[in-house]
Amino acid sequence: MGRHFDLIVIGAGSGGVRAGRLASSYGAKVAVIEEYRLGGTCVIRGCVPKKHFVYASRFPEQFEVAKSFGWSMKDVQFDWATLRDNKDKEIKRLEDIYGNILDNAGVTLFRDRAELTSGTSVKLQKDGEELTADRILIATGGTPFVPNIPGAELGITSNEAFHLENLPEEILIVGGGYIAVEFAGIFAGFGVKTTLAYRGPQILRGFDQDVRDAVASQMQERGIEILTNTDLESLEKSKQGAIKVNYNTGKSQTFGEVMFATGRTPNTKGLGLEYTDIEVGAREEIIVDEQSRTSCPTVFAVGDVTDRAALTPVAIREGAAFAETFYNDNPTFVHHDLIPTAVFSEPEVGTIGMTETQAGNRYHKVNVYKAAFRPMMNTLTDKPAKEIYKLITDADTDKVLGVHIVGHAAGEIIQMAGIAVTMGATKADFDRTIAVHPTAAEELVTMK
Ligand code: FAD
Ligand code: NDP
Repeated sequence: MGRHFDLIVIGAGSGGVRAGRLASSYGAKVAVIEEYRLGGTCVIRGCVPKKHFVYASRFPEQFEVAKSFGWSMKDVQFDWATLRDNKDKEIKRLEDIYGNILDNAGVTLFRDRAELTSGTSVKLQKDGEELTADRILIATGGTPFVPNIPGAELGITSNEAFHLENLPEEILIVGGGYIAVEFAGIFAGFGVKTTLAYRGPQILRGFDQDVRDAVASQMQERGIEILTNTDLESLEKSKQGAIKVNYNTGKSQTFGEVMFATGRTPNTKGLGLEYTDIEVGAREEIIVDEQSRTSCPTVFAVGDVTDRAALTPVAIREGAAFAETFYNDNPTFVHHDLIPTAVFSEPEVGTIGMTETQAGNRYHKVNVYKAAFRPMMNTLTDKPAKEIYKLITDADTDKVLGVHIVGHAAGEIIQMAGIAVTMGATKADFDRTIAVHPTAAEELVTMK
């Protein structure tokens, strides 16, 4: 038998690092085991590098708008390798910070793959040592899911998109969720001819219908081809080295690159769950209660591996709540019903609370307030795209049930609106807030 800890955390991503660091600060003897790079998906191949790409992809449109303000530019060029490599340097810097955080917190870090051997023990796969602990926290995140169709191996996922040697001339993005629409905007902004194929009737399922329609039509205005009700049947290598895609509609198209953004699977495979009583669900997610307890009393799970809401701030909150509850005698719950979120597509989306449909199904009567207007920044151009602001309220209590924004800085704005909605604000509370003028966000407090 190897070393014993109060807590073993498997996975040094958003949830695991927060839980491990906090538990250690409350006096627990903590081990964190990570098989890849410190920081997890968000830092290494998710939110952070993605946002670098989003920023980079938005410059061409800004250059264009700048002309309407009298600026002229010569020789504007984009160098993919510079962006990719600068991004890699920044990610390395952040990864080192995560190492320091764990180090300073007094956590023992194992750079290895962990497999459970029981509810209180873990075997390090390279080293062979078997560690034991009073509690184990699984924070292993998720992995891109790729549909099992012939030739799927010819495609890439977001993991590889961050490291392409060269940009393709044309790309097909498969899927209609967060990653698909964000990467469609990214590649299109880089000048890659971009097509998105989605199996349903409209992208961004689960979002408010007005948001979905506005994002889709503005993506199309920016030159992205969206194929709805379209699934892939197979992929094959063409003679020229390109990838030929055969759709279920009977049509075929050829692309330099195909990227699957078809969801993510919780990382439970090969984790040794069979040596415990841990229950998993249909998507291989670990089933937990509201305090992240699994069905095995000594094992807990937070973050994407539990498939509650696959977002970094949620994983962090779940990790923190676990440490507060079990190492600081401060029972803490994470409320998953009101989560502000942004899609960094072009145009950007910010949303919190219920969609119009959800509110209509749940409440006796709802009021819907909507504003659609051209952003002031674009009024000297002939760009037709409109920003959308939408509030949904309960007609009986005036409480704001949902806020949905499509447009510039929607992610930033929804963070602030999210505070009001989380506090239970009414439409009257929004209305008595004095507007900040001239801004787009003033629509939130002036809608009639
Ligand atoms: P992770 O951060 O994935 O960490 C899990 C860690 O466990 C990994 O480092 C992994 O290597 C390690 N691991 C797995 N198995 C083992 C094992 N057996 N032994 C040892 N180590 C193991 N969220 C947002 O909120 N905003 C965004 O803008 C955003 N953008 C995203 C963009 C992309 C392209 C992707 C893929 C995701 C994005 N997300 C975003 C989601 C976000 O990254 C995740 O919700 C978050 O990282 C989940 O944290 P976690 O702690 O659950 O898992
Ligand atoms: P999503 O669940 O958001 O979207 C997956 C998409 O793939 C959906 O459109 C889904 O269709 C489609 N799909 C699923 N299975 C298949 C299949 N077999 N064949 C064809 N299409 C399929 O997952 P993502 O991969 O985009 O992102 C994973 C998660 O990461 C997100 O849900 C989000 O929580 C998080 N994330 C957050 C970001 C942010 O905060 N800005 C950015 C990126 C990711 P259908 O709708 O019909 O099910």
